[in-house]
Amino acid sequence: MTTPLTALRGVGARTAERLESAGISDVEALLWQFPIGYDDRREPIPIASAAAGERAFVRGVVRRVGGRRFGPRTTLRVTVEDDSGSIGVVYFNQPYRRTQFTVGEAHWFAGDVVAERGGGLVLQNPDAAASGDALGVGRIVPRYAPPDGIGATRLRDWIAQALDDVDRVPPFALPGADPDGEPWLSRRDALRECHRPTDDRRLERARARLRFEELFALQRALAARRSRFVATHGVDGLEPATAIGPLVDALPFAPTAGQRAALDAIAGDLASRHPMHRLVHGDVGCGKTVVAAIAAGIVANGGWQTAVLAPTEVLAEQWGRALAALLSPSGVECVVVTGRLPSAERRAVESAIVGGRVPIVVGTHALLSASVAFPRLGLVVVDEEQRFGVAQRDRLRGKGPAPHLLVLSATPIPRTLALAAYGDLDVTTIPDRPPGRGPRKTVVVEPTRAPGMWTFVAERIERGGRAFVVCPSIDAEAASTSAVATAEALTADGFDRFGIAVLHGRMASDTKAETVARFRAGDVRVLVATTVVEVGVDVPTADVIVIRSPSRFGLSQLHQLRGRVGRGERPSWCLAALDGDEAPDALARLRLFAAHDDGFRLAEADLDIRGPGELLGRRQHGLPGLRLADPRTDRAMLERARAAAFADGAQPES
Ligand code: ADP
Ligand code: MG
Repeated sequence: MTTPLTALRGVGARTAERLESAGISDVEALLWQFPIGYDDRREPIPIASAAAGERAFVRGVVRRVGGRRFGPRTTLRVTVEDDSGSIGVVYFNQPYRRTQFTVGEAHWFAGDVVAERGGGLVLQNPDAAASGDALGVGRIVPRYAPPDGIGATRLRDWIAQALDDVDRVPPFALPGADPDGEPWLSRRDALRECHRPTDDRRLERARARLRFEELFALQRALAARRSRFVATHGVDGLEPATAIGPLVDALPFAPTAGQRAALDAIAGDLASRHPMHRLVHGDVGCGKTVVAAIAAGIVANGGWQTAVLAPTEVLAEQWGRALAALLSPSGVECVVVTGRLPSAERRAVESAIVGGRVPIVVGTHALLSASVAFPRLGLVVVDEEQRFGVAQRDRLRGKGPAPHLLVLSATPIPRTLALAAYGDLDVTTIPDRPPGRGPRKTVVVEPTRAPGMWTFVAERIERGGRAFVVCPSIDAEAASTSAVATAEALTADGFDRFGIAVLHGRMASDTKAETVARFRAGDVRVLVATTVVEVGVDVPTADVIVIRSPSRFGLSQLHQLRGRVGRGERPSWCLAALDGDEAPDALARLRLFAAHDDGFRLAEADLDIRGPGELLGRRQHGLPGLRLADPRTDRAMLERARAAAFADGAQPES
């Protein structure tokens, strides 16, 4: 039921192409280009009440027309007056307007009110017409944000044409009633009202209906995904209740209450014949690895294999080490598969996996390759899941009959966003941190205090500490804050006595692994790195992290970086070293970062500042179709949509 764009008056092949490349594929899709705002043109306001920064709709008599020309640029100035006062109207580079205005004639104007340098107010580039019809006088007029290369007026005209055929849009029934307890407006009525409003209240109802529709459709898709997943027959023969005790007893430490609760939930999932479908998230350093290790141990006891997918080689190797430490006392072995295994070795490992001889396989994307085949894949663990797409984790799951899925995320996700983005998963939060961690302090350091900061860093190292120095780039020319330049400067300042190494993504994998190992061992006590150390790297003796040019990083990224320290008993420090030219809003963000050490609080703040995209990483593609609805502000509606969408099936825990 689609109508080609060229069916519209004023749309030829070229324009149609342009619209298509902006994601508007047919006439019906135009109706989903919602206005970004509305101009109330029912009644003009008195000119005297126009206020800077607002939009104004006025009617007045033209008193003066003047203008200037600078080369190709023109400025047209018109003075307009009503009973209450007068205001200037300015047009830049619209020379054709010159003939539009005659002194003594009345016109309607609608546009932005701007304060001029001298303090006076003007209307800047407003819509203007002598006849009310041309400006939609008497109505509420929608405002659109057209794609590049398309004029707003033309877009409005095409949408109006599309609206004439709105009855061809299929209906879409919604459960329940609207927020006022009245029946939902129909989809067609809502579209009509949204593009051609009749009154404020009805417009509000129309927009509420369309927002709810988006949220409901998204939740229904998640519910469908979940029920497909849950309907498959899972892995049998697992006995979590008996397996878990000895595995936990063999750990070098007692789990925290949060880890314990996550383990209980996982044990429950593994006891069921339906595949587990769970997200465990919690702040950096809360100890998610242990939780995954125990799950893998339970699965291994039942004779099944576990695949752990990690985003980088450094992390995959760290997982290998951690799992070996946590599980080898219980006799569960593990191998690591990364792109850097020599091919003979890789073939040997692959044949051991295929032979079912290794219970746990950790790897990077290399795990997804067809040559890695599991005869008995019972559990898939995806670490730092925001680094992967849903397709990748599905690909790994596809290597088993219907394996359990455990997803880990160190980016704490506010609940509303979790419901929208991870709504098909059960969500467990680990709210606490392992005991015995020293306090961690974050300080924003002004450039003038940098020398003192470096002295402080040197003192910490002399007392047995270790420092990360994170730089925004590797060796960008002229960037004194690049990793290479920073390492050179620190060497010149005598830091080479501590052992300095550089770590960045362009280094060979072997060198990277070796560098991290030397830092861990203490041969290198200053690691100058790019954000390759952002996720996961776990070196408990590190107690200082200096972040150069911190305004170049997002809040959640800064928090991830900060998570590299504070993993041991020593007090630790995160030093955000300013360049000195930070914009006020960047400074405000950094002060927020310094004030909140709690990842959840910070994530809420980040969500408010930058919207969901940053937080979700690649998962942002998991929020399709939200044009009007915003999980941040439509929380109650999201919960209702969710309850309704999952009404027929079990709702995930969250
Ligand atoms: P993350 O949740 O960031 O992945 P990790 O699993 O890497 O955190 O754990 C961080 C550090 O805390 C590791 O060194 C780990 O051994 C340690 N750890 C985890 N759980 C506990 C616990 N219950 N008691 C003491 N130390 C713990
Ligand atoms: Mg981790």
